[in-house]
Amino acid sequence: MPTRPDYDVLVLGGGPAGSTAAALLAREGRRVALLEREHMPRYHVGESLLPSVLPFLEELGVADVVAKHGFQKKVGQTFVWGRDRTPWVLDFRELDVYPYAYFVERAQFDELLLRNAGRLGAEVHEGVSVEDVLTDGDRVVGVRAKRTDTGEMWSPTARYVIDATGQNALLAKRAGDRQYVEGLRSLAVWSYWEGAGRLPPPADEHIVTISTETGWIWFIPMQNGRTSVGVVTSDVEELRGESGSRADDIAAFYLRTIRRAELVGELLTGATQVDGMHTQRDWSYCARRFTGPGFLLAGDAACFIDPILSTGMHLAMTGGYNAALAVHSALAEPAHEPAFMRYYQRSYATTYRELLTQVRHFYQMEIHRDAVFWKSRRILRVDPRLDNSLAFVFLTSGLARHVTAVAPHDLTGQSRAAFSRRLEQDGRVDYRPNARDRDLAHAARLVVTGADGSLIAFEQEGMRLRLRPTAEAPFSARPARTAFLVEIARGSDGLPIGTLLIEAARPNLPPGARTVRGFAVHARPYRGRDGDSALLRDAAGAAVQAIHESAETSLASLEDDVRAALSSSDGTTWDLTTPADLGDAAAATMPVTAEFVRASDGEGLWVVVDARRAPEALENPFWRGRLVDASYTSEVERDPPPADVIALMARVTDALTAIESECRTVSEALARAPEALARLAPDAWTLSGVRRIELTD
Ligand SMILES: Cc1cc2nc3c(=O)[nH]c(=O)nc-3n(C[C@H](O)[C@H](O)[C@H](O)COP(=O)(O)OP(=O)(O)OC[C@H]3O[C@@H](n4cnc5c(N)ncnc54)[C@H](O)[C@@H]3O)c2cc1C
Repeated sequence: MPTRPDYDVLVLGGGPAGSTAAALLAREGRRVALLEREHMPRYHVGESLLPSVLPFLEELGVADVVAKHGFQKKVGQTFVWGRDRTPWVLDFRELDVYPYAYFVERAQFDELLLRNAGRLGAEVHEGVSVEDVLTDGDRVVGVRAKRTDTGEMWSPTARYVIDATGQNALLAKRAGDRQYVEGLRSLAVWSYWEGAGRLPPPADEHIVTISTETGWIWFIPMQNGRTSVGVVTSDVEELRGESGSRADDIAAFYLRTIRRAELVGELLTGATQVDGMHTQRDWSYCARRFTGPGFLLAGDAACFIDPILSTGMHLAMTGGYNAALAVHSALAEPAHEPAFMRYYQRSYATTYRELLTQVRHFYQMEIHRDAVFWKSRRILRVDPRLDNSLAFVFLTSGLARHVTAVAPHDLTGQSRAAFSRRLEQDGRVDYRPNARDRDLAHAARLVVTGADGSLIAFEQEGMRLRLRPTAEAPFSARPARTAFLVEIARGSDGLPIGTLLIEAARPNLPPGARTVRGFAVHARPYRGRDGDSALLRDAAGAAVQAIHESAETSLASLEDDVRAALSSSDGTTWDLTTPADLGDAAAATMPVTAEFVRASDGEGLWVVVDARRAPEALENPFWRGRLVDASYTSEVERDPPPADVIALMARVTDALTAIESECRTVSEALARAPEALARLAPDAWTLSGVRRIELTD
């Protein structure tokens, strides 16, 4: 490593991934150079965005500029897919937040993002082609680049290199570790049209997607009356024609296919093709790893998925964003570089895998719409009562992983924000943190050092990881608060019985919520604590009274008054719970799992005992103790749970209560949980194993 590198970060490639990373790093005061081979504006395919891109635009400070630019709005997608040729739609307007996206001329959109990186302080070098990387031992420490106009060579060095060179994938290809996805190796052929018709509103703002025998067709209504029409085919034989010229064969195949297609053929009647033919290999792939010593891969350089669901730009900006977060944090805390790189690898790989699963499912051409919806629900692990189509919208808007990447411990709360009204009517999103999220939590805890450094404080305050990579240099201010939670415990033994959620009054409040002075108070008992609901209602009454008497008008100051009023109870009836020893809970990230099998039908049920979390983190666990929480996952989800599951959980609850009374810390309770669970001898269930999960890298 050179003693003083020229830059903190070199970003290779000025597409959406590179510009996002460079802009955020520069904004945080990092010395960044971005090297782009072309001069902007340059042409690029990929016009159809997802709503998930909007929060990135906000974060980059260009949401207004993009909104005013005149790009065509996109509110959904119309499909004619599979055997049943009845059109069906994906409607982003079902989402309360970010209910739309855009169709963009990429030359303009990409230039806008690149100039923004410059505006925020990145050194932007156009017409500079990166030829090779410089290494010191294993570590990438810089690049060799050529100025395309003069041929002059340049060898800048940096602490980190982010490869965002798109499908060129300078570093990933060098490492030779790209894996292609079987069954998703297609070719795309497309061109642009003027004078094409539009479907009636709101489908005039939809991308139209039609399956064919060997692939699919896209029809994208763009600004100024232009339309992008493309054909994706997995059968290159189809392209071979009689003309003897490959270019002519491709053009003939293209016209033949789109003219014959349902909806699209008709919309193109009388339209004029205003551009030549474009072709590009459309093979889905993923690099074996997204990071290595001194470097990260972002956007198409890391992974690519067939564009059927318009996921490319979402992945690119997610990659750019998370790469900036990881690098910025690693520069601030070099000792924790591996944790930040792991966070990047895992969060990005999960996003990729989930979308790939959905796209592969789509590619089973005979699939029915309901099966697609169902698949989304399975991928997101949402509550069975939640509308299937909404799960599909949530996943294909790209917002699902914003939620977990942004606030790993509060999918429920975040989803509430995303869905609010629908969620109140239709149910809840059920979420169980997995190993990846724990790792993210670890990274999050490290990056908030300087505040008080504790994980639970991070959760309690609803702080969002993306908003606060380090205490000294936050990405931006904390979000405005829209609600607060108070957790209530039973006075006699301190066991938490539920929460009170206090928020600004709004339409569609759930039944039972009480409003006072423009605020709403909801009492939400924890599962298994129904017997204490009268107590919780009393506490809610006291909160309502406190709001009534308070002179405060903002939620933040009101919270102090409500807490003060609730804690002035004598403590023998209810009490405000204080979360378990925070440092201890943060360290105790090894849940205990017990696997039970129902003797009568062999169905599996997993009981998970985990460190107690902030109330926002687990909306409604089956059992919630002073130190640990217990919940279950069953092979077949049923709501309400069957009687034998409730009976089993009651046994678990007793066992844990006994342990907790003898333990002082979360770690102690977790260490003793396996022995207590192993001693359970429930009727009707066979215990097939208890273990404490070691989260390895
Ligand atoms: C047929 C097709 C249709 C698609 N449709 C959509 C869609 O509708 N919606 C969607 O979201 N996505 C779509 N995509 C995907 C989308 O285009 C990409 O995922 C997205 O552009 C990736 O952004 P990026 O920043 O990673 O890479 P890019 O946008 O490709 O940017 C990479 C940049 O790196 C530069 N570069 C390359 N090599 C070097 C080098 N050696 N030195 C310096 N600079 C270099 C390039 O000039 C380029 O500007 C589609 C893709 C295909 C193939």
